[in-house]
Amino acid sequence: MELMKLNELHAKLLEIYGPQGKWWPGSSEEILVSAILTQNTNWVNVERAMDNIKRAWNENSKAHPSLLEFLYYLDDKQMAELIKPAGFYNVKTVRLRHLLSWLKTYRFDLTAIERKDTKALREELLNIKGVGKETADSILLYALERPVFVVDAYTKRLLNRIFNMKLESYEQIQNLFHLIYPANTQLYQELHGLIVEHAKLLCRTRPLCTRCLINSCWYRKKLQRE
Ligand code: SF4
Repeated sequence: MELMKLNELHAKLLEIYGPQGKWWPGSSEEILVSAILTQNTNWVNVERAMDNIKRAWNENSKAHPSLLEFLYYLDDKQMAELIKPAGFYNVKTVRLRHLLSWLKTYRFDLTAIERKDTKALREELLNIKGVGKETADSILLYALERPVFVVDAYTKRLLNRIFNMKLESYEQIQNLFHLIYPANTQLYQELHGLIVEHAKLLCRTRPLCTRCLINSCWYRKKLQRE
């Protein structure tokens, strides 16, 4: 049997896991925050931190109608306390502070940010301390709904295992997806989500190939040959 092609990955994962919709939960404001909180931790911890934030904001929403503005006016100690469940809370407090300072230059008005083109926004995001390519692109794709494919360690793993593509460069991988898949925000949102779900459920560090429905996988075939 022939190996699967990269342009078939979305359809195959969709067939296995079903529609993911937008996949990253929350409003655009919440996604901006959770994009920082999710660095180096699992989603359950992010959810606990986000619950703390939303609870505290609900109690203060009269004074601060914007969640982002509410967070901006917290002091570091208060912010660190709220985001503690997400781990690395001192580092993340500083990173969140940098992101919020950037948002303040737009008066926390996402419609003002949305007027800018994607390339300019990506550059601005990458200039924020603590915002790397994966975080910047997650914000662009899920909070600002731009057709920018997010690359992460799971994407690299699946490229390696299913397609025998040993690519390391972020841009190289992103360009490949941009070339093969049409520039469609919903498609990129769902495909990234499907990749993460598959890598977490079956294509783990030690893959559970016997339970996997991707038969035309390079790694599986390699195991069968050995
Ligand atoms: S067959 Fe194994 S290596 Fe291939 S995608 Fe499935 S879990 Fe991953």
